[in-house]
Amino acid sequence: MTVYNFAAGPAVLPKEVLKKVQAELLDFNNSGMSILEISHRSQLFVDVYEDVKARIYKLMNLDDQEYDVLFMQGGGTTQFTAVPLNLAYQHHRAAYIDTGHWSERAVEEARLINGVQADVLASSKDQHYTTLPKVPAIPQDTYDYVHITTNNTIMGTAWQKLPETDGTPLVGDLSSNFLGQDYPFEKFDLMYAGAQKNLAPAGVTIVILKKSLLGHVKGLPSMLDYTKQAAKKSALNTPPVFQIYVAGLVLKWIDEQGGLKAMDARNRKKAQLLYDCLDNSKLFKNNVDPRYRSLMNVPFVTGDAELDAKFIKESQEHGLLNLKGHRLVGGMRASIYNAMPYEGVAALCDFMQQFEKENR
Ligand code: PLP
Repeated sequence: MTVYNFAAGPAVLPKEVLKKVQAELLDFNNSGMSILEISHRSQLFVDVYEDVKARIYKLMNLDDQEYDVLFMQGGGTTQFTAVPLNLAYQHHRAAYIDTGHWSERAVEEARLINGVQADVLASSKDQHYTTLPKVPAIPQDTYDYVHITTNNTIMGTAWQKLPETDGTPLVGDLSSNFLGQDYPFEKFDLMYAGAQKNLAPAGVTIVILKKSLLGHVKGLPSMLDYTKQAAKKSALNTPPVFQIYVAGLVLKWIDEQGGLKAMDARNRKKAQLLYDCLDNSKLFKNNVDPRYRSLMNVPFVTGDAELDAKFIKESQEHGLLNLKGHRLVGGMRASIYNAMPYEGVAALCDFMQQFEKENR
């Protein structure tokens, strides 16, 4: 039986990449050592690190003179703290657009920092986060940055067009559609993403920021200080060598698929298949505003908790794994990241149609 993994995370990686990891695991680059054993100070690792950075600039079409790329630890959650610490140095005030659980968490963590005010400028909470809010005009010279969550992993919404911020720096948590959806990335002043959706196993977080944001704040805890991390090429402490190595293989794989535009087009096709299947169903329903539907995470329900549970159980038996929805919203969720082939989504649609026939 072919098995398809619809998990929202951690990493669902391309099979070709996993095979390459397996083949090289005992002997990395003819060194006689495993990638798990090599020193982060060795040339072997420095080459991996430089290659990953170069691939990120290339795939995202970013200027290496303008942006720096950091490899940090502590997941997206640590960035909820690092961003305000490093960026809220002028107005000590930051604006957040609340589009779901992870945006709320970002606000909560920012508010724990003494001397920083985190304002929610717009929220779709009242609509149960099934849509995205209208972003008001951002007042000039008021906020150090505006923070958005590009893809809302739990609610299944995503920004299709980035909001205008009229000169206030734009910060994005791209954790769940990083390298899965194309954006004009140069509109961001800072982007961060935990690796464990489209890039690598959990343990490394990519932070891409304008170099002009560095050097303004002194006295931060070193591990959270972007300026120190940049100066030390992200090796202020022992970096997650294996995760960065896998990221390199995944970035190479994305390049071989035709780059980010091709990846985006492929993901749109996959998502469309699933949304069409849901919209044509009389049993299953996706409640998200069609203008903002995510390409990566597709929540759906039958409206009957018992039937949802039956579907999750039977889909599992058919090799369609991890379709249980997030505990906050229930129902089902199909996460269809880069590594999910079109055939996987087609298999899910076939099974949904069969289930509908048997249960209506
Ligand atoms: N932001 C988004 C959009 C997420 O989906 C997640 C986790 O799924 C996080 C942040 C938290 O990430 P981490 O577990 O890496 O701290």
